[in-house]
Amino acid sequence: MSARARKTDKAEPVAEVATAPEEPEETVSELRVELPASATVKQLAELLDVSPVEVIKQLMRNGTMANINEVVDYDMAAIVASDFGYEPVAAQRKAISARKPKSDEKLVDIDSRLLKPRPAVVTIMGHVDHGKTSLLDAIRETRVTATEVGEITQHIGAYQVEVDGKKITFLDTPGHEAFTAMRARGARVTDITILVVAADDGVMPQTVEAIDHARAAGVPIVVAVNKVDKPDANPQRVKQQLADLGLVCEEWGGDVVCLSVSAKKKEGIAQLLENLLIVAELEELQANPEGRAGGTVIEAKLDKTKGSLGTVLVQSGTLRVGDAFTVGDTWGKVKAMFDEKGKRVRKAGPATPVEVLGFETVPQAGDTLNAVASEAEARSVSQRRQEQRKLSARPSGALSASELSAQIREGRIKELNLILKTDVQGSIEPITAALGGLGVGEVRVSLVHSGSGSITEGDVLLALASKGLVLGFNTAPEPGAKQLADTEGIDIRCYEVIYNLVDDVEKLLTGMLEPTWVEVLEGHAEVRATFSVRGRSVAGAYVTDGTLTRGATARVLRSGEVIYESTVSSLRRFKDDVRQVSAGFECGVGVEGFTEFEVGDIIEVYRQEKQ
Ligand code: GDP
Repeated sequence: MSARARKTDKAEPVAEVATAPEEPEETVSELRVELPASATVKQLAELLDVSPVEVIKQLMRNGTMANINEVVDYDMAAIVASDFGYEPVAAQRKAISARKPKSDEKLVDIDSRLLKPRPAVVTIMGHVDHGKTSLLDAIRETRVTATEVGEITQHIGAYQVEVDGKKITFLDTPGHEAFTAMRARGARVTDITILVVAADDGVMPQTVEAIDHARAAGVPIVVAVNKVDKPDANPQRVKQQLADLGLVCEEWGGDVVCLSVSAKKKEGIAQLLENLLIVAELEELQANPEGRAGGTVIEAKLDKTKGSLGTVLVQSGTLRVGDAFTVGDTWGKVKAMFDEKGKRVRKAGPATPVEVLGFETVPQAGDTLNAVASEAEARSVSQRRQEQRKLSARPSGALSASELSAQIREGRIKELNLILKTDVQGSIEPITAALGGLGVGEVRVSLVHSGSGSITEGDVLLALASKGLVLGFNTAPEPGAKQLADTEGIDIRCYEVIYNLVDDVEKLLTGMLEPTWVEVLEGHAEVRATFSVRGRSVAGAYVTDGTLTRGATARVLRSGEVIYESTVSSLRRFKDDVRQVSAGFECGVGVEGFTEFEVGDIIEVYRQEKQ
């Protein structure tokens, strides 16, 4: 965008009256400025994108002495605007009024006239040990200017470098898990991914994963073939392997920028950065730097002395010290902000990472931050969000397989995103081939990622981010992945026969997949005494984990064997009937129809849940 056009962008304070967004672009990009009937010198300076001093000087040249808070009328303002080369037009409103966004309004600017170019946000991905961290360090070190040498850089999760007067923001938590974890929370922060591939090692499983994660997010990839200093480096082989995966480098006629670098020797870094700028330019990255800030939490922690700290990547507007904000389902007020050199900053514009002090509680990486009008508003919005979250069973909005199937039946989903994990590499091909032939009507199967090995947290996150599900063939989820899938409501379906897997996907596609019921354990109690109350056998029990609820389904286990299944018919603490007893407490338990408790029996309580 030209400097001339940018000046017009400054008309943001009259955004409410800036009519006709449908005007042809030529008019918009001219040096036209809408002026109110009256404005202070300060407001006028903002509108004209010049300093108030320049406005005061220009007023003096026109015979008017004014200070910064003095009000000038339209005619005088129009003369000054013309002196600065603008074409003044009268705004329809009498006075300048900044628009007050509604509390929950998403602070995304859609008026293209307010947009200005912004730095690109770059993430680094690739296989372990291929040099992601080394490359991040090399980029940071090679760009440190002379005056900054010796300054201690802090790890705040992101940093900015300047190349040819333009900035690039790097997120310095490498790896696709971090990237997809953010996306799973609905955050879109990355503009470009650098895929690091070691020239001596070539494409490895996590390289493929990284490519799939970047593709699933629709983020352009720039390849850095690293470790070219090594004697056994073979960049040509890497390019061939990438081409086999559909990433064809430019010199072979493709559209993927591919560069050789050595993070260790700091070679090729300048070219890499220049190419990032070119890719960024093609992406035409823009944001409105005016107005209230919107951003994403990159990382957060609880600091022993400072309290809740978080790094925020501002994405639109400008975040300022003193701003109240909502973040995830909590809130805060910016007490102080620091850049990656630990320097205090008072404001941060689009694509700028800042460490923020003033969160009410520690936010989560991926949480969206929105500046709001007041602390009271921030507090009430966050309270409302917390209440809403309690009500929704699946906070992430994930869908179970049967829910996906129902949505397909209703025509609401046109693409079924699958993540496939198999025991061995050889199983992928036949399953992919079988699934490939399955498109039913308009609904397509999209294999977001396939690989061999156990089902990882990364797979679950990818399913969450792409609103899909995970299929396992002769493999199982790792404990962390199972736990994440349970809390986020992601379906992991495991099969031992290819036919069953394909059959289920087919049912899903035709909207015919019926829900399956899974058992969710609620708690256990150990029988420590037995007695009878009015002829009924009751166990004096100790709840070892979870909770026991009256009416819940229960089974009695003896030496690990199930000996009886029924429901919890009575639950007492001291003389009182109670509804629920939690772990760590003793209680009297009756199981409907069961009369033969023995000391040492385990009462297991569970519920059935639809998947
Ligand atoms: P990450 O796991 O992808 O973050 O990889 P690291 O950055 O930790 O690097 C893994 C290893 O490779 C370290 O021992 C680095 O010193 C080494 N390494 C990284 N880049 C280069 C390079 O350009 N040349 C050589 N020879 N070694 C490198």
